[in-house]
Amino acid sequence: MSLSYVHPSPESPWGTYLMQVDRVIPYLGSLAKWAETLKRPKRSLIVDVPIELDNGNVAHYEGFRVQHSLTRGPGKGGVRYHPDVTLEEVMALAAWMTIKNAAVNLPYGGAKGGIRVDPKQLSLKELERITRRYTSEIGIIIGPHQDIPAPDVNTNAQVMAWMMDTYSMNVGATATGVVTGKPLHLGGSLGRVKATGRGVFVTGREAARRIGLNLDGARVAVQGLGNVGSSAAELFAQAGGKIVAVQDHTGTIANAQGLDLADLMPHVKASGGVAGFQAAEAIDNEAFWDVPCEILIPAALEGQIGAERARRIKARLVLEGANGPTTQAGDDTLADRGILVVPDVICNAGGVTVSYFEWVQDFSSFFWTEDEINLRLDKILVGALKNIWDTADRHKITLRTATFAVACERILTARQERGLYP
Ligand code: NAD
Repeated sequence: MSLSYVHPSPESPWGTYLMQVDRVIPYLGSLAKWAETLKRPKRSLIVDVPIELDNGNVAHYEGFRVQHSLTRGPGKGGVRYHPDVTLEEVMALAAWMTIKNAAVNLPYGGAKGGIRVDPKQLSLKELERITRRYTSEIGIIIGPHQDIPAPDVNTNAQVMAWMMDTYSMNVGATATGVVTGKPLHLGGSLGRVKATGRGVFVTGREAARRIGLNLDGARVAVQGLGNVGSSAAELFAQAGGKIVAVQDHTGTIANAQGLDLADLMPHVKASGGVAGFQAAEAIDNEAFWDVPCEILIPAALEGQIGAERARRIKARLVLEGANGPTTQAGDDTLADRGILVVPDVICNAGGVTVSYFEWVQDFSSFFWTEDEINLRLDKILVGALKNIWDTADRHKITLRTATFAVACERILTARQERGLYP
């Protein structure tokens, strides 16, 4: 029976996730009897987040924290501040975290949180107040051994510092391990800021090698030039790639000769987005999907590649930096066209992998060098992708279904071994 409190469409994040689970069931053997577990979040918390605005008025916001699965360990997943956040979206993002953490074999379940707010409308003080109140409200279910939040869209190390401080004040002891993605002075890890983009690059580099695509000279188009998109773009540019188009919430720019990130990034920081960058042509947002390129990196939001855009994409390789950027129909169209997709649940797993390193370092109070972090990250992602690739070859399935197969086997084996309580 489907859940009474959400009504997913085939294009919505939760609807997309449910179809992805259905696709993997034939490959689960006797574990399939536990598959329904994957279609129900273990725990969903909806909270009211009231704050006093700078002008003296009181505003209320909806906040969420969903723990999709705690079967393999504590919950783990980011916190998103965005005006479109809904319970259903957070459920899907939490579920994808369960799959991702299992796919790279991190000892975590999956969780996600969010506040339905446009943080760009808030002052820094208001942002701090909303973060502290939200953290207090979800404080009843998070903790270093229960559920460990991290940054996601529109949240960053400063927001994590406020979350850590609020939780610590409430429990009466400094608890650095309650969130990851913190500033370095507060138990953060070297390499965490760029880890997700690095993971996109590492998995992309491996996929490119396997399909005989040379990164030197490869044309790369990136949607979203935030934390994930900018770090990935930088690494592809360093490897000889040409960033030929970039889209963000302010517009789309293109330059067939390649955009110079050393000029573009300061422009984005100063003006808030790519729009108005002089050394490029401004193009229509929809034309982004027609840009000739070898590699396309969606690194913004969900549901960006449906069937229609998938028919137009020119790339050979799609690297899903974002969570859930491709609908099921889009995915099928890309597969029919022979375009290889490295799915989110492995492609953007670099962030949570270094979050895991941060959590381990916090507990041991012993910190690693950036080289150690990057080497271990590289090793874990390359190993995980190889395992997924072998599974895809064995069953003749897409990398997405193969990632789900590897992950779901781990999750459901743990489920079976733990048994049902009571
Ligand atoms: P961010 O807030 O740093 O950047 C988001 C980017 O998306 C910005 O460039 C913004 O302009 C752009 N954007 C927003 N709306 C857009 C629209 N309608 N059209 C085009 N561009 C738009 O966020 P981030 O942390 O880089 O996250 C991006 C994606 O990566 C999300 O799907 C997130 O869940 C996923 N992700 C992030 C992490 C992480 O460690 N930060 C880890 C795994 C996955």
